[in-house]
Amino acid sequence: MIIRIASAACLILSASAAAQDGGLINEGAANTARELIESGLESDTGYEVVRSLTTEVGPRLGGSEQEALARDWAVQMFTELGFENVRIETFEMPYWERGAIDLRIAAPFPQNLFATALGGSAATPQDGLEREIVFFDSFDALRDAPSDGALEGRIVYVNDRMISAQTGAGYGPANQKRQFAWLEAEARGAAGVIIRSVGTDSHRFPHTGMMSTPNAGSLTSGSHSQAVVDYLNSEYPNLEETPVRSSIPAVAVSAPDADQIERIHALGETLTVQLSVAAGWRGMRQSGNVVAEIPGRELPDEVVLIGAHLDSWDEGTGAVDDGAGVGIVTGAAHLISQLPRAPRRTIRVVLFGAEEVGLRGAFAYAQQNADDIGNIVLASESDFGAGRVWSLTSGASVEGTAFLDEAQSLISPLGIIRGDRANRGGGPDIIPLSMQGVPVFRLAQDGTDYFDLHHTPDDTFDKIDPDDFAQNVAAWAAVVWLAADSEVEFRTPDE
Ligand code: ZN
Ligand code: ZN
Repeated sequence: MIIRIASAACLILSASAAAQDGGLINEGAANTARELIESGLESDTGYEVVRSLTTEVGPRLGGSEQEALARDWAVQMFTELGFENVRIETFEMPYWERGAIDLRIAAPFPQNLFATALGGSAATPQDGLEREIVFFDSFDALRDAPSDGALEGRIVYVNDRMISAQTGAGYGPANQKRQFAWLEAEARGAAGVIIRSVGTDSHRFPHTGMMSTPNAGSLTSGSHSQAVVDYLNSEYPNLEETPVRSSIPAVAVSAPDADQIERIHALGETLTVQLSVAAGWRGMRQSGNVVAEIPGRELPDEVVLIGAHLDSWDEGTGAVDDGAGVGIVTGAAHLISQLPRAPRRTIRVVLFGAEEVGLRGAFAYAQQNADDIGNIVLASESDFGAGRVWSLTSGASVEGTAFLDEAQSLISPLGIIRGDRANRGGGPDIIPLSMQGVPVFRLAQDGTDYFDLHHTPDDTFDKIDPDDFAQNVAAWAAVVWLAADSEVEFRTPDE
């Protein structure tokens, strides 16, 4: 409560500062943004959306029956909240199923381990495998290992640890092993691969996540390297192909179990494990993106697109990833819809399907709406949990950048600084749009604890802090309102 009183006092100060600037944001729009910040800090609509999704649907793996239930839930939710043009845009995709798993140390010290299959993993033979482990300190060590037959028929183990960082910068390096260890192991004739979970906790929850291919891997980094361009050109249209074609089982063990493997390895003992995995691809299933709008009052064809992903991994209930994002963007848009008049431009909320299993919904959206991409003036996704927003980044025109500088000054009382002004990362599902010139912003969240829970059974509703969540809603409502009520050209002229 003390924080909210302090925020209100700061709001008055920044009001006079913005008025003196005489910039791109007029005083009326700025005042509405301030009202939205205050109402965002008080509103629990978005938070209740997450509660409902995680309770009444729960886990919702891309392509599963529960993901279909989530789409129906979303249509009902948007309709009840008064959104317009509510629709499901379906697409077909290959479905990967986790199935049962059993992993134990057979020798020298028999005991069970806590493990989960990685997305795209193949199954073991029905009666499992009992094989010796070959220990690698890091993914780099595995990648540089000779193809001399030493891994033939054995199980590769990769031990990289992930560091915790506000930006989540530890994820990319640590995630190399989740994405690519299967390829290196398979190429050397290994019978399977086990990794230390990609996570920053020390709890006995393994972290799942999709495996990848070298081209697709850089997609998750948020940068648009040549590899991403190549990937979009080469694989973008092939929605019906499985993103990973592993022929060997690939699993992650929890951090304490990884420590156990490490200790046994340090004793110089030969470590043998029994592994049984029932995972695999199960043919084509339907997924879909759920779309809802607040039509613009003057420029309805111009769209500010905000999104989150509706699917989740199947281990937890997908609260921080990405129920939080669903609640944040829905809560923010709903606050704007309650204003006396709609913004000039249309606000479109897109809940993407099947993000976790290879950005399937993002690619489907970009394909199915190819003719409309030029109408999207600005886009962003909330997909980094429910931690507080600390920075506004963007990738937009000179005028758009200046406009977002002013928007940042309005949300600065929420503790948000101006971040990178040349950042094309608008969130994973925005990548196919950004690649085609759609300007982006991102309200970067504190990710210090995000990877404690990420893709584990521990990703549940109780982990969301209501005050941190409300700060997100307030920031989103203000920035989205300002962009949607403006006529600013965010797009760089030659894009
Ligand atoms: Zn996510
Ligand atoms: Zn995720």
